[in-house]
Amino acid sequence: MTTKNRLRIAMQKKGRLSQECSELLKQCGVKIIWNDQRLIAYSENMPIEILRVRDDDIPGLVFDGVVDLGIIGENVLEEEELGRLSSGEDVNYKKLCQLDFGGCRLSLAIDRDKNYSNVKDLENAVIATSYPNLLKRYMKEQGVSFKSILLTGSVEVAPSAGIANAICDLVSSGATLEANGLKEVEAIYHSTACVIQRKEPLSAEKQALVNKLLARIRGIQQATE
Ligand code: ATP
Ligand code: ZN
Repeated sequence: MTTKNRLRIAMQKKGRLSQECSELLKQCGVKIIWNDQRLIAYSENMPIEILRVRDDDIPGLVFDGVVDLGIIGENVLEEEELGRLSSGEDVNYKKLCQLDFGGCRLSLAIDRDKNYSNVKDLENAVIATSYPNLLKRYMKEQGVSFKSILLTGSVEVAPSAGIANAICDLVSSGATLEANGLKEVEAIYHSTACVIQRKEPLSAEKQALVNKLLARIRGIQQATE
């Protein structure tokens, strides 16, 4: 089987989505020969190859048609989409389904000791985030002006380091916020992992395989509901 005829799926190499992505593929009956050193892993029983990359790269790989499918958090997907749209680029993809893992929310958080009644309290605040586009969209809807500082990691230390008044970061349990003396004041976006497909049509064989995988995913999800 040549690479061209294989369905190419991008997933996170190492992180919160990786294990559940490989588990999902396994439950769909896709047997993969994993090799930690390799960027690409091959299935031994289906014409599928898995590209393992940083999650941030997955939306772009699908938008640009480099891979056929991507498994990605909606937060990263929409952030990349908004970023491309704001720089005048086209964004093309289809969302095939939401998954029942990777659940989290993007929230605003401030110093535990600060008073807070509503988002207007953040007028002219400096907010540190890895999600400037999702934050901008929310603050625009709320009619609140602010300044964002882009941090790709350690966002939660920004207030205590004196570089921001607030943060906008992903939360699942809230333990990290608490450990950094912060309190969650507003959830601005709810996310789960999802499967996306490139917009450009696939060959009939590849599309049939995608449909088969999707039916299996739906079956798995119904069984666990
Ligand atoms: P990479 O090295 O691939 O860029 P990362 O550090 O950006 O990894 P992870 O922390 O592994 O990303 O998170 C991947 C995705 O898992 C998030 O974008 C989000 O969709 C989901 N997620 C679920 N719960 C959480 C959480 N509590 N904190 C962060 N992400 C979460
Ligand atoms: Zn990332």
